[in-house]
Amino acid sequence: MLQNIRVVLVNTSHPGNIGGAARAMKNMGLSRLVLVDPIDFPSHEADARASGASDILQAAQVVATLEEALVGCNLVLGTSARDRRIPWPLLDPRECGITACEQALEGADVALVFGREYAGLTNEELQRCQYHVHIPSDPAFSSLNLAAAVQVLVYEVRMAWLAAQNQPTKVAKLETTAMLNTQLVTADELESFYTHLQQALEEVGFLDPQNPRHLMSRLRRLYGRNNISRAEMNILRGILTETLKAARGEHHKQGKSDV
Ligand code: SAH
Repeated sequence: MLQNIRVVLVNTSHPGNIGGAARAMKNMGLSRLVLVDPIDFPSHEADARASGASDILQAAQVVATLEEALVGCNLVLGTSARDRRIPWPLLDPRECGITACEQALEGADVALVFGREYAGLTNEELQRCQYHVHIPSDPAFSSLNLAAAVQVLVYEVRMAWLAAQNQPTKVAKLETTAMLNTQLVTADELESFYTHLQQALEEVGFLDPQNPRHLMSRLRRLYGRNNISRAEMNILRGILTETLKAARGEHHKQGKSDV
């Protein structure tokens, strides 16, 4: 589906930006790059900036006009660093990602069109696009580096694509992986920790059993909001054990910090 979305770079001056755009695309799972009349391509600089994405550069289609680049496209989204005078349907990058994805999912061919480093897209080129996309940058310094602008848009395409597949986002995946790796403590493990903690605090004289105030409930609140893992719990239990030994004068180990 992402293969239906092509990135079109118009009249790019710096080959490094072409390489940077290719890398951004590959990172986000896109592969169709179309170059309209590039100033310097192929080039070593483009390959260097593409890093591991030189396959995208090799497969890039080089054409003479924007018209040729847009052959077969059902939806054309043109980017602009500035608000143009002509009123046009304007999307932000998120809306662009969602729209591009929805159309591509239905089998449409979609183009994301980017302009020249120094002059952007001409009004004529912008009028070939159904929608304009503006990254809401600071109006006092609105123009992003070309490859950076490509990165923002293809990232949003990916996020929309992930959402469309009802896949968890990267953050959610990382959380799941982290939980599987670390295994959170259970309520009963937490209870025996509190018993241990209370015992240690009493023995070192921090908690007065005659006048406990709300110390233990405050500590429960503190530890309870931390999603403690089993490994972390082992560290805490180790600290309590050593603290108790020290308080009882049994301490003879040094530097036991490799828990
Ligand atoms: N001086 C040019 C700047 C072009 S920057 C101008 O005013 O148009 C090169 C390309 O990067 C732009 O044509 C566009 O494709 C993209 N780009 C840079 N900043 C952008 C922004 N804030 N929103 C959308 N696209 C942007």
